[in-house]
Amino acid sequence: MDCIFCKIIEGSIPSKKVFENERIVAFHDIQPAAPVHILVIPKKHIPTMNDVTAEDDALIAELFAVARQIAQEQGIAESGYRLVNNVGSEGGQVVYHLHLHVLGGAKLKGLN
Ligand code: 5GP
Repeated sequence: MDCIFCKIIEGSIPSKKVFENERIVAFHDIQPAAPVHILVIPKKHIPTMNDVTAEDDALIAELFAVARQIAQEQGIAESGYRLVNNVGSEGGQVVYHLHLHVLGGAKLKGLN
């Protein structure tokens, strides 16, 4: 499996993990785009949001629940933060393993 995030999940590539359970891992982005920049990923290898099926409904709900918990733990829940999911080349996706970016800790620009 030539997937960077699968290697992070199995531990062959190191990461600064902030959360892990049987289904989900969260870790600091290696090139942070904000003071807080954490990636929340399912352990199941799903390439993009386009590959999500109804069978993944509970997993996607849990992905958002973990992102919410991380925002609280990182102290950005009240000030505000952004959840980003890039899809495909024009969406800016670089790593083809589904992930939510949790971005915060500063006034974020763009998109609005
Ligand atoms: P995408 O552009 O696919 O939405 O986001 C991929 C993210 O993964 C980027 O923000 C990038 O900095 C991060 N990333 C890529 N390789 C690694 C890595 O080996 N370790 C960590 N922690 N983050 C990575």
